[in-house]
Amino acid sequence: MGNNSSQPTVEQMVVNEATHMMPPDQIVQDHPDATVIAHPINTVYPKHFNFEDNTFKNPDVTIAQPPMTDQIRIYSEIMMARQFVPNEHQLRTMKPNWEAIHSPNHNNIQYTWLGHSSFFVQVGGFNVLTDPVFRQRCSFFQHLIGPKRLRPVPMTVDELPPIDVVVISHNHTDHLDLQAVKDLVRVNKQNMKLYVPLRMKAWLHKNVEELSNEQCIEMDWWQSIQHTFRPNVVPHPHSVGEQTASGVLDITFLPSQHWSVRNLFDTNYQLWGGFGFTYTPNNTTFPKRVFYFAGDTGYNNYLFKEIRTRFSDPNGGIDVAFLPIGAYGPRWFSASQHTDPVEAVQVAQDINARHSCGCHFGTFVVSTEPVLEPIEKLHQVLQLMKLDYQQYQPWNEHGDNFFVTVCHGETYLCKHKTIADNANVLEGANKDQNTAVILQTEREKLI
Ligand SMILES: [Zn+2]
Ligand SMILES: [Zn+2]
Repeated sequence: MGNNSSQPTVEQMVVNEATHMMPPDQIVQDHPDATVIAHPINTVYPKHFNFEDNTFKNPDVTIAQPPMTDQIRIYSEIMMARQFVPNEHQLRTMKPNWEAIHSPNHNNIQYTWLGHSSFFVQVGGFNVLTDPVFRQRCSFFQHLIGPKRLRPVPMTVDELPPIDVVVISHNHTDHLDLQAVKDLVRVNKQNMKLYVPLRMKAWLHKNVEELSNEQCIEMDWWQSIQHTFRPNVVPHPHSVGEQTASGVLDITFLPSQHWSVRNLFDTNYQLWGGFGFTYTPNNTTFPKRVFYFAGDTGYNNYLFKEIRTRFSDPNGGIDVAFLPIGAYGPRWFSASQHTDPVEAVQVAQDINARHSCGCHFGTFVVSTEPVLEPIEKLHQVLQLMKLDYQQYQPWNEHGDNFFVTVCHGETYLCKHKTIADNANVLEGANKDQNTAVILQTEREKLI
């Protein structure tokens, strides 16, 4: 694109957006069951809402959803790619570590990968599910067509411990599984809350009969809500961990660079994003724990730095980040909406994550890159940058690695290195090699 002095730059557009006054809001719901503690939206329309076509837009307003012709073309390219399906040794499944799951150390974060973007995260006695997808195919037609799971779901909804919090990043079929939501509501009843993007709540109520109004909380970007312990919380029946741990969990909805569609006629009608979580124990001798679930996102060079500034803990950064590393091919279609492994490493650095786990690969074939390539590329770039990489080991003795991938069903108990340790790792990497050059080289190989 050539330089046109009459056109504002993206940075200028963002600044203009931030300062633009908006008329009263009709979309945002009150939250009688939750306390808005920071970044309240008050009574303005979100500035990322477009009145003219009644849709949401990205932080970088120049990034739009792919046109229908490109969407049709990409589906045929994915079909034509005829992906090689890895064997069990190459893409492993582990039996759930029930002992760890039922007796978590409440002061550290523990997570179990359920495939694609579904994580079961445990901290401070809270059980959190991200984008729970348990179905066999991700498409509008659950049993008939669409990408089939490469590996079975490691555990069923009924097998999971009681769930406190479910977050759904956006309405694409590989992230919002309606049957999973129905099952989770059936099993956990009113003890579970769902946090969802703007305009998803009405759609869920239409489709999930048992979902109560108080149970589903709609959020806008940068809005934070405090999720406190339920007074009637039932201790986990097998728990022998530190059951006395208690505190509050703050949930923040964060922007991502993506889009939404559930049927042919609702493109960008619902919002999309990621979620940040801050667990603050009542006992102040224990540290806060912060984790971040990115949902689906493309990379741009200011969004994640803004998340670092506005969300990350000023003292501790982000303890754990769940970042997408797959569905990046082909780049002509996916570059604006899905990070590749190189960009995912850059996101981890931008947000100051001490430990990241890659996801959005190895479960449903929704793109053209080979199924195992995200792991290989991640490994390569981390080796080049001399950052720690670990695969298929529950944890090591010395602390958490900078960026990992885990097996389907694997439970990872974070060791939580000190901030100083992590700073040394990053400093060492930057000293030895020119990070930007490495990232650029890796990206060229990927394209
Ligand atoms: Zn998506
Ligand atoms: Zn996705």
